[in-house]
Amino acid sequence: MRYRIATDLVRAGRNRARNEGGVNPPVHRVSTLILERVDQLYDDDNVKTYGLDGMAVHEALAEALVAIEGGAGVTFAPSGLGACALPFLAFCEAGSHALVPDCVYGPTRRLCDGLLARFGVETQIYDPRIGADIASLFRPNTRFVWMESPGSLTFEVQDVPAITAAARAAGIATGIDNTWSAGLYFKPFAHGVDVSVQALTKYQAGHADVLLGAALARDAATHARLRRVNKELGLGAGGPDDVYLCLRGLRSMPVRLAAQAASALKIATWLRARPEVAQVLHPALPGAPDHDLWARDFTGAAGVFSFVLHPAPEARVTAMLEGYRLLSMGFSWGGYESLIVPCDPQLKRTVARPRFAGPLVRLSIGLEDADDLIADLEEGFARLTGQRAE
Ligand SMILES: *Cc1c(COP(=O)(O)O)cnc(C)c1O
Repeated sequence: MRYRIATDLVRAGRNRARNEGGVNPPVHRVSTLILERVDQLYDDDNVKTYGLDGMAVHEALAEALVAIEGGAGVTFAPSGLGACALPFLAFCEAGSHALVPDCVYGPTRRLCDGLLARFGVETQIYDPRIGADIASLFRPNTRFVWMESPGSLTFEVQDVPAITAAARAAGIATGIDNTWSAGLYFKPFAHGVDVSVQALTKYQAGHADVLLGAALARDAATHARLRRVNKELGLGAGGPDDVYLCLRGLRSMPVRLAAQAASALKIATWLRARPEVAQVLHPALPGAPDHDLWARDFTGAAGVFSFVLHPAPEARVTAMLEGYRLLSMGFSWGGYESLIVPCDPQLKRTVARPRFAGPLVRLSIGLEDADDLIADLEEGFARLTGQRAE
């Protein structure tokens, strides 16, 4: 019997024997595992020999992640960024060329410009809206195409099937940062991607209390490559308490995300009608940039989006941002609490710089009542324009 995802996420990873009868898996704090026989000590293909590979709770979380996105296996990393690094290190070597979209999450760009460059991997930034024309950038030494859709901060939706078709025809591996959809609303493996990365820190953990990442592999050979990098770097599988919290968060993720997405769309619609707002960048909003591509490939939306203000004095924008009662300023997103950040200082673009009318602001909508958040935003606009709120 095939169930829908909310049902699968309630049941995933439940294994009576492994859980010793419990609904939830045990949390083992383990570095050393004690083995009975000499031959087992060196048989780590078949026997757990050391805590770095993870224990029951890691297996349960991996099963839940595969229930969402499919694939042949999960490689964990201690953060979402660490998980983003895995496929680059798995597919590239000194002398390789990799392609990265201009809308990429800033720290992933820093990885490319820093560590990867120092070890002889050249990354080239491409326009996230390039589609099938990505093929024109392929070189004999191109080994990997990275995607992120929608893009961090600016929410461009990439034509993933067009890009993966071009890459596959040229024998080039592909990976995607699929954090925004939480894996629920976009299925990378159905669109030809080899590696799907989740910053589990965001919606999966969902409570702003865990840092964790995962790289899911399309097939066993790709999974083996990712695992090898994890092992060579000694990244481990995440602390057992963090992994447990993430699994606990996952159980309610479809419900939380549905509520957060509905509030976000209501707020985005309200923002679009405001005179202070030049543009709303939310792909699920009809008429917003890339809405058609989103509607073609996604089955839902997250609660994170941006909006562009009309030009305003910096001090006014600061007063708007610093005075909210409910919206807090802070990085990350996907937790139960709403967050707001001005984006311009971290907007690093090199080939496809969007021309925005004024300051760019990102919202992560939490579980507060949407109308309370709208009232908070409205007071903020009064601070922005110097008018008193009604
Ligand atoms: C937050 C984030 C990451 C990194 O996750 P961390 O756990 O904070 O390292 C990667 N990609 C995207 C799109 C993110 O939003």
